[in-house]
Amino acid sequence: MRYIVAKNSRDAVALLGAGDGAQPIAGGTDVLVQMKLSGVAPSVLVDLKKIPGIRDIVLEDGGIRIGACVSGAEMGENDALKNMWPGVVEAVELIGSTQVQGRATMVGNLCNGSPAADSVPALLAAEAIARIEGQDGQRDIPVFGLLEGPGRTKLGKGDLITSVLLPKAAKNSADAYLRFIPRTEMDIAVASAGVNLQLDEAGVVAAAKVALGAVAPTAVLVEDAAAALIGTRLDEAAVKQCAEACEKACNPIDDKRGTIEFRTKVAGVMATRAAKIAFQRAGGLL
Ligand SMILES: Cc1cc2nc3c(=O)[nH]c(=O)nc-3n(C[C@H](O)[C@H](O)[C@H](O)COP(=O)(O)OP(=O)(O)OC[C@H]3O[C@@H](n4cnc5c(N)ncnc54)[C@H](O)[C@@H]3O)c2cc1C
Repeated sequence: MRYIVAKNSRDAVALLGAGDGAQPIAGGTDVLVQMKLSGVAPSVLVDLKKIPGIRDIVLEDGGIRIGACVSGAEMGENDALKNMWPGVVEAVELIGSTQVQGRATMVGNLCNGSPAADSVPALLAAEAIARIEGQDGQRDIPVFGLLEGPGRTKLGKGDLITSVLLPKAAKNSADAYLRFIPRTEMDIAVASAGVNLQLDEAGVVAAAKVALGAVAPTAVLVEDAAAALIGTRLDEAAVKQCAEACEKACNPIDDKRGTIEFRTKVAGVMATRAAKIAFQRAGGLL
């Protein structure tokens, strides 16, 4: 195996596009574990961390652009980011331990393709846009458009995410992320939810996004769950309808960490609890 530190994104794209078996590495908290478990190494490991700008968090058009190699710990220390998108930051900060946080990136979490990846439901709820550098140049794609299935994304050969844009948060809006894990820490979500709500001047939900994780082959946006919240102050009927819509959207696996029935029930609970947190963060009164 060759290990090459890319000097810039074009260099990285060329290395990844040439021949078979080249793989990018950011924090390495998935890549290295997978290499050890499988005993198979990529032909070329392309380290992205020295690409200029790839570790920056910058304000852009009222939103925030996060470089692909910014670690979870760095995101958690950025006040502008925490204020504008607290749900995205709390999702990223749930990944692993303090040690893992120093290495793990949000973009690596997305590109690993796990249905239980903590950052992905929060990114969907925030309507985040990934910037991709590929053989044909640069393009922007909503994160939702990149999800494909367990361990897979729609990124093509040689494609590299260089950053993710979290758009300008709307006035009177806020997001939140919650997950259920069997242990108190260092576990993978059995069900999770990211919710983003915008309130009108009267404190009524005017716009909503509800996304679930770990209950289908990819994270999913549940439009019926969002619709149940719009026009309400999260009264009991709206919350119940939201939970039911979430349950209907579930298509989970059945394993030792959670049965289908349990994951389905908990998805609705996570979504409605996250909705209440987002509502209060946006200034709503429960
Ligand atoms: C102890 C431990 C605990 C963990 N806990 C959690 C948890 O609680 N929740 C959770 O969701 N995950 C968890 N993980 C998984 C992992 O830490 C996360 O998925 C992490 O965010 C991956 O980021 P990374 O930078 O380390 O990715 P890497 O390992 O560097 O890369 C991951 C994948 O993405 C690809 N990739 C990386 N960057 C790019 C890019 N810019 N463009 C295209 N492809 C790219 C790589 O080729 C690889 O396929 C845990 C892992 C460990 C070891």
